[in-house]
Amino acid sequence: MGTVTSQTSAKRFAPDRIAILGGGPGGYEAAMVAADAGAEVTIVEEKGMGGSAVLTDVVPSKTLIATADAMRRVNASTAFGVRFGEHSSDKYETEAWADFSKVNQRLMKLAHSQSRDIHASVEAAGVRIIAGRGRLVAPTNIEVTTEAGETTVLEADAVIIATGAHPRELGSAKPDGERILNWTQAYNLTEVPEHMIVVGSGVTGAEFASAYRRLGADVTLVSSRDQVLPGEDSDAASLLENSFARAGVKVASRSRAESVERTENGVKVTLTDGRVLDGSHCLMAVGGIPNTENIGLEEAGVETTESGHIRVDTVSRTTAAGVYAAGDCTGMMPLASVAAMQGRIAVAHMQGEAVKPLQLHRVASNVFTSPEIATVGVTQAQVDSGKYQADVVKLDLATNPRAKMMNIREGFVKIFSRKGSGTVIGAVVVAPRASELIFPLALAVTHKLHVDDVAGTFTVYPSLSGSLSEAARRLHLHVAEPNQS
Ligand SMILES: Cc1cc2nc3c(=O)[nH]c(=O)nc-3n(C[C@H](O)[C@H](O)[C@H](O)COP(=O)(O)OP(=O)(O)OC[C@H]3O[C@@H](n4cnc5c(N)ncnc54)[C@H](O)[C@@H]3O)c2cc1C
Repeated sequence: MGTVTSQTSAKRFAPDRIAILGGGPGGYEAAMVAADAGAEVTIVEEKGMGGSAVLTDVVPSKTLIATADAMRRVNASTAFGVRFGEHSSDKYETEAWADFSKVNQRLMKLAHSQSRDIHASVEAAGVRIIAGRGRLVAPTNIEVTTEAGETTVLEADAVIIATGAHPRELGSAKPDGERILNWTQAYNLTEVPEHMIVVGSGVTGAEFASAYRRLGADVTLVSSRDQVLPGEDSDAASLLENSFARAGVKVASRSRAESVERTENGVKVTLTDGRVLDGSHCLMAVGGIPNTENIGLEEAGVETTESGHIRVDTVSRTTAAGVYAAGDCTGMMPLASVAAMQGRIAVAHMQGEAVKPLQLHRVASNVFTSPEIATVGVTQAQVDSGKYQADVVKLDLATNPRAKMMNIREGFVKIFSRKGSGTVIGAVVVAPRASELIFPLALAVTHKLHVDDVAGTFTVYPSLSGSLSEAARRLHLHVAEPNQS
């Protein structure tokens, strides 16, 4: 981004006073490292420490998914010979049910306690936390309005903007918090929805569709594309679609929601192709909008893109000297882990340390559906388009002995290695807990390990990770015999 890199010759300074707008992962991780390095750090946060990540997004959704996973395991346990009294049968579903008010109480309690823990650790690190709404005042000051309506100006030598994002709304499908919901309102439900229509088949939509189905709701997923999860590995998305079909999730594909209205007892979702879906509730999962309006960016010379995201480079600099940005407000990659990394990089850069720029191709990410889909590095689409020359091995988990013991019938490991050199450059794992299995492959991608390094590392027998080394072993043949397809 030319406009940003024109700053490269700007004089480096190690700021004494750092002000951070937003206490999510982008803000609080930066605050911790800056305070550790001896800076005087202040965070301005209007909702609660941990940000949306902790209060409405990652923590509550993953806690809900943990309950859905517990239900899945209970319901699948008859296949292991487990019986629940005389009425149980070999049928896949048992009589387990989710006490939704308890489930939601638990997840909100967990989110608030996590927010308090973060508040306490950040404060213990010596960071000042101000509860209030802030806006940038040029060059690097923040004007704060507290809940009581008092306004003060916080003077700083450098600023990090980490204001995150909020759910996108469609004019014809306004959430009412009762029947038509966005993901921040989904935790108000006291009963499992009878029929949840989820609009949007990206990661958030797919995760909620999967969870609600496992929790016992009828689910219809409205997808504008041919396949759910358009940004993910197509083999993984196709496996998930089959798994959805088996679990009873209906997918209304190749259509968008034109409008969502409340009816007497539920909702009516009209699709652009004329179909009308009736449900009890509708969850809108159509993406996020960066929180970049009315925070003084333009006046301070901080450029935004057409989508409203703050323009940053790979060391988190914006177009204004001394102003950095991290997280969802930058639109780099909307993940808590990336936000935190951008925040840490911003601090390292402003303090003149040797900085490793953000490398998105090393980011490990996960879709918390059932099964999970974890990825790192180069993708199948990039290989197919010719951007990367790679050998690929895809190994189904069905033959893995541990998978058989665990009654895992679907899932795979896919590894990409650079053609000729055999370096691991990407991977996909589709399995229960794929989020935990991807780490060794992320390590291999980050440290440019050879497939033989992965294949030559002991794995536990029997284990799902045995399939990681087995896939790497099979890739060895491609390196040894380069002509093999
Ligand atoms: C349903 C859902 C599930 C997700 N699950 C995952 C996951 O499993 N893993 C993952 O890595 N990512 C996940 N994400 C993405 C993740 O939530 C975001 O990437 C992450 O929250 C970004 O962190 P952030 O610091 O940029 O912003 P946020 O976490 O949004 O924090 C920004 C903070 O800034 C505050 N703020 C905004 N404006 C102002 C202002 N003017 N003054 C004061 N304070 C202000 C807000 O109150 C907020 O607390 C999920 C997202 C969603 C929607």
